[in-house]
Amino acid sequence: MYEGIVQELIDELARLPGVGPKSAQRIAFHIVQTRNFDVTRLAGVLMEVRERIRFCEICGNISEREQCVVCRDPRRDPTIICVVEEPKDVAAIERTREFQGRYHVLGGAISPIEGIGPDDLNIRSLLHRLESGDISEIIVATDPNLEGDATASYLSRLLRSVGVSVSRLASGLPVGGDLEYADEVTLGRAFAGRQAMGDRRSIPTRPAVGGWASAPPPEEPTPPPPDDAPADPA
Ligand SMILES: [Zn+2]
Repeated sequence: MYEGIVQELIDELARLPGVGPKSAQRIAFHIVQTRNFDVTRLAGVLMEVRERIRFCEICGNISEREQCVVCRDPRRDPTIICVVEEPKDVAAIERTREFQGRYHVLGGAISPIEGIGPDDLNIRSLLHRLESGDISEIIVATDPNLEGDATASYLSRLLRSVGVSVSRLASGLPVGGDLEYADEVTLGRAFAGRQAMGDRRSIPTRPAVGGWASAPPPEEPTPPPPDDAPADPA
């Protein structure tokens, strides 16, 4: 539609997730037309991020060092692991300030349609972490959609055989969506009301210092009814 290199730029931008053709065009013209837009800086950051960012050797989160900022933090409770699909989910949960434990990033979700099975995910290293015996609870915080549910069921079966308590985020999250799009209040509430998976009825209440900023009250383990949660305003 446009001449040579401009169209190439638009096409490249449109390949990015969440950028449609119109946004790609808007960004491209911003870059072309804005005199003080620092193209060198943007190009430099893009190159540098590829060089410097790696995956944490413990949890699979993105990191500039061998271990990510959460795994390096001695104040984080090492007995609870929250399992998420992507590094962006770690960021979403960190924004709620509800969780004081550690993470494990799977790098995706089980999806037969896309040919992604358990062996393609970062599960072996999770089992390896469990071998230490220090981990008492796993919270599965996969996306509330088909793939996320399949992954959660698989992990629940697998992990219960190791004797670890497995829970899943409570209802209230927008079904079919992405964890990262849930607002902080909804996501925080889903954490506090997390439900045990499989045949375990209750989950251990964590002390406020070690595990949860706001642990669910022990005498009222019942989660709020599903229609209690407001719809995502976004
Ligand atoms: Zn880590």
